Amino acid sequence: MQTYSGSCHCGAVRFTFRAPIITSAMQCDCSICRRKTAYLTAFTVPQEEMEITADSGALRTYRFGSKAARHHFCGICGIHTFVEPRLTPGTWRVNLGCIEELDALRLPAEIFDGKSL
Ligand SMILES: [Zn+2]
Repeated sequence: MQTYSGSCHCGAVRFTFRAPIITSAMQCDCSICRRKTAYLTAFTVPQEEMEITADSGALRTYRFGSKAARHHFCGICGIHTFVEPRLTPGTWRVNLGCIEELDALRLPAEIFDGKSL
């Protein structure tokens, strides 16, 4: 297990979680993820196992469609940091690009068929 820390671009939203060494990523082709083109964790992190710190009012949430998924982003710099997926409520998929020590874009990534949900 390794501790990963990440943040949005301006640093107003920060998070830490523990996970096995990250060697792959996931991309989702739903209408919003396609636009963000984010490399997400291939696994989900239980929400109680991720520590989130945010400056007052910085952590914003976007919901659409069934409103089941919660897409979190920084209201200052606009960077998407993590999402509570529709299929696994109570967990996060984290934007790997927010983790400084990871070369997220060079990780092998599988494309999840979010478009069909
Ligand atoms: Zn920010």
